[in-house]
Amino acid sequence: MEKEKIISILEEVMDPEIPVLSIADLGILRGVEILENEIRVTVTPTYSGCPAMDTIQEDIRSILLKNGFDKVKINLVLSPAWTSEWMTDSGREKLEAFGIAAPALNHSCTMAGTGTDEPGHCPLCHSENIEMISRFGSTACKALYRCLDCREPFDYFKCH
Ligand SMILES: [Zn+2]
Repeated sequence: MEKEKIISILEEVMDPEIPVLSIADLGILRGVEILENEIRVTVTPTYSGCPAMDTIQEDIRSILLKNGFDKVKINLVLSPAWTSEWMTDSGREKLEAFGIAAPALNHSCTMAGTGTDEPGHCPLCHSENIEMISRFGSTACKALYRCLDCREPFDYFKCH
């Protein structure tokens, strides 16, 4: 089916900041509609004003164009806001294999601060013996931690 084909093409669009995660893995690809004379792709940015979003939109257009779809409309939906819980399980696995701890799943960030927004374990050796080095890592959406067992520093993708 055409729609499934388009979705599988879009699964190759990677997040510019985390090149191992596709927009489908991140959960920012919300839907694809085939209208009479255009394809409408609905995406929800991870962070409002995230500069990566421009790159993602360009990548969506260019990969669809390469596959013969030239009439593409990108519909940015800001509400409901993206949450890190939309990240797929395979996305979380890819993130950890890349060395970044996946966001907490206890919804602490979106549900009035219950629970803690911190990684459960070191993505490299899975030790729970970790400490925070800095609230901000390589980008504002990550925090920097260190594993006290394997001694490696790692980024934590903050829950959002
Ligand atoms: Zn470790």
